[in-house]
Amino acid sequence: MSSWPIGVFASVDAGLGVHLDVAKELGIPTVQVHSPHAATRTKEAATQFLGQCQAAGITITCVFGGFEGESYADIPTTVRTVGLVPASTRAARAQEMKEISDFTKLLGCGAVGMHIGFVPSDRKSEDYLALLHTTRDLLDHVAKNGQNLHLETGQETAEHLLEFIHDVDRANLFINFDPANMILYGTGNPIEALKKIGHLVRSVHCKDAKWAAESIRGQEWGSEVALGEGDVGMETYLQTLKAIGYQGPLTIEREIAHDRERQRKDIGTAAALLQKLRAQIL
Ligand code: MG
Repeated sequence: MSSWPIGVFASVDAGLGVHLDVAKELGIPTVQVHSPHAATRTKEAATQFLGQCQAAGITITCVFGGFEGESYADIPTTVRTVGLVPASTRAARAQEMKEISDFTKLLGCGAVGMHIGFVPSDRKSEDYLALLHTTRDLLDHVAKNGQNLHLETGQETAEHLLEFIHDVDRANLFINFDPANMILYGTGNPIEALKKIGHLVRSVHCKDAKWAAESIRGQEWGSEVALGEGDVGMETYLQTLKAIGYQGPLTIEREIAHDRERQRKDIGTAAALLQKLRAQIL
């Protein structure tokens, strides 16, 4: 595959992604997929979905896990409900993530992705050490499936994400970089973050957002907007991806599943913008 194939975040029956037919219509050659619900994570479903992708000339580049009970309603709710960090659901979700890794193998894909949650800041705390233990165990399972795990950015600063990955100490842990999330969560300038963690970035989201007002940043969401209309700076973003040597897909994410028409239109516009910038920069 040549450098920077365009991609889109797609869903089968769960998550906020577009349906595969949108990628097909727009001629987009790669997708990241939100894992389907447990009942549809079967061999038959995998064979069928893979067949649809192959017929449309679409490669699956990463499968994202998500869990019942997660809510991104506001930042405090996200802290409480998302990923492997909440202790009460940690073991069950780690087990489910292993099953998602197994399903991903059926799709012939070598990467799974997830939001791990808000990693505790105290590296000596019991919660942090328990999270390390669970993450290592999950990574060992993922490795047996011949896969890497990509952590979605946003909930941690670049520095803390690096510390966590260092502490986990497994060779198959990498980063899915989402510049808009750094803005939405208020965790740091995305371009500066990308320069710091670039050596670990194995997949990216092309998503845009506007900062929340400074007085509420980190406590209330910034706002997600169509690609090119936010504060990321798409040209600088792609130039920085080039500078760190990133060659993987540029996966468009537009999280407005409540407005499918607008989602489809914005993804078409985003694909055109990325194609134009890719031609200028590569
Ligand atoms: Mg993302």
